[in-house]
Amino acid sequence: MPWMLPTILRNLLSRPVTRRYPFDDVREPFAGYKGRIDFDADRCDLCGDCARVCPSLAIEVTLESRQITYDPFKCIYCATCVEICLPRAIGQDRRYTKPALSKGVETIEVPV
Ligand code: SF4
Ligand code: SF4
Repeated sequence: MPWMLPTILRNLLSRPVTRRYPFDDVREPFAGYKGRIDFDADRCDLCGDCARVCPSLAIEVTLESRQITYDPFKCIYCATCVEICLPRAIGQDRRYTKPALSKGVETIEVPV
C-alpha cells in the first residue's frame, strides 16, 4: 500500500474538514434558514390553531392548564404554525437548534 502514503501524510498534516460544533467556528446560517421556534406567551390566546396544523404533532395546547408544550425533537421546522398564528405568538429565527444530551419538551405557561 505504498501508493496511499501521500494521502496519509496529507491528511496527517492538514486541518480536519469537520468542525467541532458547537464549540468553535460556528458558521452563520444561510439566508432563509428555518431555525428555532419561539413562543411569546403574552400574545397567545390558546386558540390551538398551531397544534391543529402541525404536521408532526410537535405542539399540544391545553386550555385547562393554560399550557403549550412544544417538542423540538418532533418539529420539522416547516413554519406552518408561525404562519397560522394570528396574534403572532410564534416566531422563527435563523438560530441553529442547539444539540442536546437528552430529549425533552418545552412547556410554555400562558398568563391569564
Ligand atoms: S401560539 Fe398562536 S396559534 Fe398557538 S394557541 Fe397560541 S395564539 Fe393560537
Ligand atoms: S415548525 Fe412545523 S413541525 Fe415545527 S412546531 Fe411548527 S408546524 Fe410543527
